[in-house]
Amino acid sequence: MAESTVRIGLVLPDVMGTYGDGGNALILRQRMRMRGIDAEIVEITLDDEVPESLDMYTLGGAEDYAQRLATRHLNRYPGLQRAAERGAPVLAICAAIQVLGHWYETSSGERVDGVSMLDATTSPQDVRAIGEVISTPVADGLTAPLTGFENHRGGTTLGPQAAPLGRVTYGVGNGVGDGFEGAVQGSVIGTYMHGPALARNPELADLIIQRALGVEELTPLPLDEVAQLRKERLAVAK
Ligand code: GLN
Repeated sequence: MAESTVRIGLVLPDVMGTYGDGGNALILRQRMRMRGIDAEIVEITLDDEVPESLDMYTLGGAEDYAQRLATRHLNRYPGLQRAAERGAPVLAICAAIQVLGHWYETSSGERVDGVSMLDATTSPQDVRAIGEVISTPVADGLTAPLTGFENHRGGTTLGPQAAPLGRVTYGVGNGVGDGFEGAVQGSVIGTYMHGPALARNPELADLIIQRALGVEELTPLPLDEVAQLRKERLAVAK
């Protein structure tokens, strides 16, 4: 277990963070603090170089213009890429999956080079995906259904280096007809789930914490509020 403060990088909250995605960093910090692990959030804005030394990173969603600013910044200061190469967990929500892929096309059809941390490409689809999304996890270390709120027009195709996070049981997910939701490659987990995703999916939060700390298990946190939230959100599929 880490003895010093665990540092969570909240990457570019000034341009990426729709639907309260910054809350994912709060959830990670809170779930560590409740277990007596000292943790803090380090906000990395467009005014900062991206540090490679943090213990885990989260990025939120964004619309086209903000997404493009973030892409340029991450390519200019490749700290996130270096951190992922040494195995630091990275959680990328919605537009961030697109940014971390090889390229994405904006809604006006312009192709933008991404960061290439995920073997994935994104193109706009005819119909915007809006609403609840639920999937059965296929990624290692997860068993509980994943739940979130999606709102995106981009559809993401995974290449052979990336595996899906889940198989969609309700909603759209990656939106290219393969039934997949999200992308996993090395220490990077991408998902279309807003919510914030980690408030709704504590197992995913704890997987990220475990990997960052290099521990096999964590003290369980059976929180009534989380159970109630999951019950409500999973009920939409009934
Ligand atoms: N602009 C992107 C899309 O529509 C991402 C949207 C988001 O992050 N919510 O695909």
